[in-house]
Amino acid sequence: MTEATHFYQAFQPAHYELYLAINRANKTITGKTTITGEAKQTAIALHQKYLKVSALQADGQDVPFTIDDPAEAIRITLPQSGKVTLTIDYTAPLTDTMMGIYPSYYEVDGVKKQIIGTQFETTAARQAFPSVDEPEAKATFDLAIKFDEQPGETIISNMPEIREENGVHYFDTTVRMSTYLIAFAFGDLQNKQTTTKSGVKIGVFATKAHKPNELDFALDIAKRSIEFYEDFYQTPYPLPHSWQLALPDFSAGAMENWGLVTYREALLTIDPDNTSLETKQRVATVIAHELAHQWFGDLVTMKWWDDLWLNESFANMMEYVAVDALQPDWHIWEAFQTLEAPMALQRDATDGVQSVHVQVEDPAEIDSLFDSAIVYAKGARMLVMVRALIGDDALRAGLKAYFEAHKFGNAAGADLWTALGKASHLDVGKIMQSWLEQPGYPVVTAAVVDGKLTLSQQQFFIGAGKDVGRQWQIPLNSNYAVAPQIFAEKKVTLGDYAQLRKENGKPFRVNVGNNSHFIVQYDEQLMTDILANVDQLNAIDQRQIIQYLRLLAEGRKNSYGNIVPLLPRFAASHSAIRDLNALFRVAGDLKKFVAPDSDAEKQLQA
Ligand SMILES: [Zn+2]
Repeated sequence: MTEATHFYQAFQPAHYELYLAINRANKTITGKTTITGEAKQTAIALHQKYLKVSALQADGQDVPFTIDDPAEAIRITLPQSGKVTLTIDYTAPLTDTMMGIYPSYYEVDGVKKQIIGTQFETTAARQAFPSVDEPEAKATFDLAIKFDEQPGETIISNMPEIREENGVHYFDTTVRMSTYLIAFAFGDLQNKQTTTKSGVKIGVFATKAHKPNELDFALDIAKRSIEFYEDFYQTPYPLPHSWQLALPDFSAGAMENWGLVTYREALLTIDPDNTSLETKQRVATVIAHELAHQWFGDLVTMKWWDDLWLNESFANMMEYVAVDALQPDWHIWEAFQTLEAPMALQRDATDGVQSVHVQVEDPAEIDSLFDSAIVYAKGARMLVMVRALIGDDALRAGLKAYFEAHKFGNAAGADLWTALGKASHLDVGKIMQSWLEQPGYPVVTAAVVDGKLTLSQQQFFIGAGKDVGRQWQIPLNSNYAVAPQIFAEKKVTLGDYAQLRKENGKPFRVNVGNNSHFIVQYDEQLMTDILANVDQLNAIDQRQIIQYLRLLAEGRKNSYGNIVPLLPRFAASHSAIRDLNALFRVAGDLKKFVAPDSDAEKQLQA
């Protein structure tokens, strides 16, 4: 018999009853897990890691099982396939790995304390309880927890607590969800709460080492983010509460556990009076990112980890969409252009770079395999490109349909493109295919050839690169209506340039707003025209021109010396550009190439 790739193919859990007794002093976990599900065959497996299984029963009868540590599995032989209830008794260590169930250490007034929290993504739920620990294996969960409880301690989870009996805290049954999103925490916590317009309880939880007003900023952003997403997605927040918890020890930045989002303390609790705007923006975008996942990722989850890029890229885009709506005065998209766009353009110009979508079978490979500049920065740019192409009305309609079709279930990237394609009447899937499955990006050359305005595309490289003739479906977003919406050919002629210039009354440009993932090399005539009118461009579009010039110089398609005389033209609007990294970088690179005391150097210093 061929071994099933995913455990879910052999056994499909429908409901879990999880009982956990956690002792901080002894650093032990004692657990009992009852899983009701459908066995598709008699040889099934559950995930486990570091669990010591003492008994395993199927429908009340002992059944043979073996522990397969390399596969992080318990292999079970059932008497027959079909509906079955498995009961597993086990113990596990409480380890300091910041994965699974783990302690966070901190001090209040010189007293050492700890909070127990969880981190299950990607594959650490199996360290807490035996399960089919795969995103597609969605089920409902009843969680019951007992711990060495001290007076005044609080326990929270994905769902509200419904009762306490003999020191055991029972939580309400969850909605159908993935194992990696289960979370709970307990300890000596303070909290602040509010309620959204639609009645969702919002809370911020932290240790008492924080001043109470350090919870206020996050509470406001979380409340308004949930309200924003309920409106933008046109889909209600599916749980009774949305708790945000700051953990003293945390390996990632934040984690989107459904209804109980966990954060590194510095990314949630801030002193409202002594925090820079930049830090506030960072905290707000992180909260907005995690809350975007409550629908995209949690309500609808990727079928398998190969679409993790989509989960993250989508949230990366939405954090900007949301924060821009909550705080328009922050001009947060300029930060996207400053942080994400250059990272993606730089890395993706390297020959041999990976494509956004990569086949992954083993979840353990994900971290080592994923190149964050590609998977997250380029991935987010892909979604920003789609958003710019189809517009917010189609995006929202498509998302609404997508959530409706797949809620409490799973989907693949293709399902999203289908939904967005239907809403926009564009073949989004075909367009995205060329960007997601191919590495790299094109440079579009815009030139006047024999009086005709022409465009051509070619892969752009920094350093050595082998051109294998890749072509992209490029959303051009030109300011001339004559340019096609999607440029898919190698070369296109748009018409008589002099006439087009006259009709349009402005310099020819493509990728207006810098939302598509390509760069443009304008010929001298077109570039001169743009530069003569550069003060009419906004900060992002000015920045884009500088970015292009720098990248083209790095890719040896332009010389650094040619850029120098251009820099003073941007001087008038420097203050409009929030971050001048690109400019400084150009200036820094130029110092390497421009001879001292040359005319070019003098211009650079001007
Ligand atoms: Zn995320």
